[in-house]
Amino acid sequence: MLHAVFSDIHSNMEALEVVLADAKKEGAGSYLCLGDIVGYGAEPKECLSRIKALNGIIIAGNHDYAACGKTSIEYFNEYAREAAEWTMMQLDQDEQTYLADLPLIYRTDQYCLVHGSLDEPEIWEYIVGSESAQRSFNVLREQILFIGHSHVPWIFVQDRNGTIESYRASELMLESNKKYIVNIGSVGQPRDLDPRASYCLFDDEAGHVRYRRLEYTIAKTQNKIRDAHLPEILALRLEMGR
Ligand code: ZN
Repeated sequence: MLHAVFSDIHSNMEALEVVLADAKKEGAGSYLCLGDIVGYGAEPKECLSRIKALNGIIIAGNHDYAACGKTSIEYFNEYAREAAEWTMMQLDQDEQTYLADLPLIYRTDQYCLVHGSLDEPEIWEYIVGSESAQRSFNVLREQILFIGHSHVPWIFVQDRNGTIESYRASELMLESNKKYIVNIGSVGQPRDLDPRASYCLFDDEAGHVRYRRLEYTIAKTQNKIRDAHLPEILALRLEMGR
């Protein structure tokens, strides 16, 4: 089965449509969404209904819980907080209940999905170095953990001696004696100085992960953010990829 693994859409409908069209063209038969469907952008309702209709697996991100009052937005920066409050006002009760009911973790025999970190998913930690990666590897039973949250594509590999290496790559071939944490990057707000939408295709039989980067009409998304009177920085950062 070929899975489209995607995350951090952040109410960016243009980026989402480009990613879903690409996944379909590449032959994806399953959709795994790692959360942060909403927050920052201007089309939370549209993104939520588009993703629900895929009938895939969806887990929660911090912005999804923030938009239904399930997680505190005190630690959000000023722009994120303003966008979270705006998003909450756009969503009706059913949509908020849907987001509140999303699980924090999804696992199969082979792979596991979490938005932030596997050891404490509810605190929304960023896995950015070998120490934080280690804590997730310690509780990872499966061979591969897909994560989002930092909006930066990155791979952590643990060999059978426990040694962790991390690097960036455009694809990954799984080796049977190793475990992996794969940050798939962000669909709707990349932060690795590459403004193109990011997601991964995961072939679970071949044990192969492939990153995809796709251009979309950023100006259209920016206009919607400005029309909604969301903070200007949320429009600007899209073209900078940060
Ligand atoms: Zn996010």
